[in-house]
Amino acid sequence: MYKTHTCGELRLTDDGKIVKLAGWVHRRRDHGGVTFIDLRDRFGLVQIVLNPEISPEAHQLAESIRMEWVIQVEGVVRKRPEGAENPNLSTGEIEVEVHKLNVLNPAKIPPFLINKDEEADENTRLKYRYLDLRREKMRNNIELRHRVVKFIRDYLDQRGFLEIETPILFKTTPEGARDYLVPSRVHPGEFYALPQSPQQLKQLLMVAGVERYFQIARCFRDEDQRGDRQPEFTQLDLEMSFVEREDVMNLIEDLFIQLVKEVVPQKRILKIPFPRLKYQEAMDRFGKDNPDLRFGMELVNISDLAQQSGFSVFDQAILNGGSVRGINAKGLGDYTRKQIDELTEFVKQFGAKGLAYIAYTSAGEIRSTFAKFLSPQLQQAIFDRMQAEKGDLLLFVADKVEIVYETLGRLRVFLAEKLNLLDPNVLAFCWVIDFPYVVWNEEEKRWDPSHHLFTSPMPEDIPLLDIDPGKARGQQYDLVLNNYEIGGGSIRIHDRQLQEKVFKLIGLDPDVARERFGHMLEAFEYGTPPHGGIAPGIDRICMILAGEPNIREVIAFPKNQAARDVMADAPSPVEEKQLEELHIRVVYPTDSQKS
Ligand code: ASP
Repeated sequence: MYKTHTCGELRLTDDGKIVKLAGWVHRRRDHGGVTFIDLRDRFGLVQIVLNPEISPEAHQLAESIRMEWVIQVEGVVRKRPEGAENPNLSTGEIEVEVHKLNVLNPAKIPPFLINKDEEADENTRLKYRYLDLRREKMRNNIELRHRVVKFIRDYLDQRGFLEIETPILFKTTPEGARDYLVPSRVHPGEFYALPQSPQQLKQLLMVAGVERYFQIARCFRDEDQRGDRQPEFTQLDLEMSFVEREDVMNLIEDLFIQLVKEVVPQKRILKIPFPRLKYQEAMDRFGKDNPDLRFGMELVNISDLAQQSGFSVFDQAILNGGSVRGINAKGLGDYTRKQIDELTEFVKQFGAKGLAYIAYTSAGEIRSTFAKFLSPQLQQAIFDRMQAEKGDLLLFVADKVEIVYETLGRLRVFLAEKLNLLDPNVLAFCWVIDFPYVVWNEEEKRWDPSHHLFTSPMPEDIPLLDIDPGKARGQQYDLVLNNYEIGGGSIRIHDRQLQEKVFKLIGLDPDVARERFGHMLEAFEYGTPPHGGIAPGIDRICMILAGEPNIREVIAFPKNQAARDVMADAPSPVEEKQLEELHIRVVYPTDSQKS
């Protein structure tokens, strides 16, 4: 037996026990001829003492031992001498006096420190992920993830859900990204597609009468690597029969309330029940459909007032069908010109031509790009609408409404970060509903589903699909948490005619539709219950609960930002013979194609 106890479990009550421990050398100190080692395993740290008077051989061997060596010891648990206790350690009242020491495996010097939470280059961390995962923070993140998933499984099991695995080698399930394809050896020229989600299969499970399905499902989407996307990610995929939108939302809402209570009780949910925002309301108030509700600074539409100003920038925007909206950055009225220029540069990245402002300084002065165009009454009307007080900075964007939303939505979050308004211990969940059913794709001159093509329109909006599709709303819902969409779902179409109508609306050729989704259309003719579901993203949820800035921190073996596994070096070329077996020939892109 290597160990009788873990390194985290010995207490004063174990005083005098003979124990065996095994783990990694976390830290080592020599003190007055005695060697102290903090021995670490996944469960904690314990101090072991090598005293030349008690075991000269062990003490001598310990001299050669370095950080991260794997060792095993036998010894006796002792109360630490008065004053030597460590209150920060669960085992801090005791130490283990070693009689016998075994080196199980030495270690090279790690490329970064394991025993300190020091910044290390991310690619180095990913290359040596097995070392990175030894660090306390990563160990906690991986454990948190386990708790989240375990909670979800138990919760759903108690409510009659079945966890069912669905294939990874399947056919395209479009979720708005490119498919990862897997060539078939036995069927030359044919390919499986890895699921972008198990969407079709979970719907087919409803046709199969499962009624309540879930899966902790891996999904694959070949997207351009922006921000913290991963080529493969995990979601809680869930589907229910005989439900309306409210039924799915209520279940998921309760699941998250209970999950927070159980798994991260130190965090506080801002509002229960979760606020429900209509899509348009979310856009008007926050400029985005995944708003952060932890702070105010909402967008205010002043187009009607701006129109009276005679300021040409405002006039132009409104003449072109746009609008003028602003936010009140409370307390920033004394920002210098240079600081405001920084904000202007920030919004320009997202398409705004500039940022108009009125700084109402704490001394009561007005500094502004356009106040000279305003009559005292008009200025007062703007101040009233924006609830401006001395010391406030009013920031405005005048443009096409999409640009106004995009830039002010981002500026609002950018300022909240600067102003420290983003309390990581507060969880502001909300639902966003009543999305437009389809959105116009100007490039391809067709309608795109705003969710996916199996989502049902609102029943009362079905006639609009023929006359004014842009006005129809979908039966979909997004769950939002602190500035992130953490899951989306919908009530589905369960009727062949309506599904075909939607395929047609989004310009899917009937032959292509039949080839890709014929099995779904056929299934819908064999008694399909009304059904709906959702798919919250596990990576993102864990990231927020762990207070991490990106999902790589909560995934054991993520790809880097260039979609590479730098540890195993994947993707990598394969042997010519393998390609031959797969009937594949590689045509390398030319330099110009690469960019
Ligand atoms: N399949 C959707 C997604 O992966 C979720 C759903 O509609 O249930 O985003």
